Amino acid sequence: MLDLEIVQIGDPVLRHPAKELSAQEILSPEIQELIEKMKAAMRAAPGVGLAAPQIGRAIQLAVIEDMSHAHLTEQQLIEQQLIERERSLVPFHEIINPRLFVEKNSEKADFFEGCLSVPDLLAVVPRAKSVRVECLNERAEPVVIHAKGWYARILQHEIDHLCGTVFLDKARMHTLTTFQNHTNYWQGKNLCKVDE
Ligand code: ZN
Repeated sequence: MLDLEIVQIGDPVLRHPAKELSAQEILSPEIQELIEKMKAAMRAAPGVGLAAPQIGRAIQLAVIEDMSHAHLTEQQLIEQQLIERERSLVPFHEIINPRLFVEKNSEKADFFEGCLSVPDLLAVVPRAKSVRVECLNERAEPVVIHAKGWYARILQHEIDHLCGTVFLDKARMHTLTTFQNHTNYWQGKNLCKVDE
């Protein structure tokens, strides 16, 4: 199995709406193998989500997994601001042909986000805290996902990729920073105040 290369910003594939997959296509050996390759590429990066356009394929498929903090203690979760971000454990799964709905009365949250296709940059992106996603799984079965907090953010970020949108399009651009300057200047800041 060849390793997948992650496409970087500026490549037109990141800017086109991706095509839906038929049930037959989803069940094909090619797409089943692609899901496995995307899982490996996401874990190797490492990242919590990877959309097909990011590996050069304009199809409505993304993989998600957020388990890296599974071993952390409560104190470490607090120190790394993971509780504040409402970051829960999300086992590996894929979303295919997703439709995103923001839940009624959902608040918005501001947090820094990055992207494997936009190296070394972070920016604050306002996102809905509570969403519903209707999609298909790898067996082409319909699935409804109710997500809150960080998981809701990951879903919004990946579904944006399938529509040709990257996080910078929705970011508060005056918060744009390199990783290094994020560590130097932004960590622990109250983002609401920064934004005023
Ligand atoms: Zn991304």
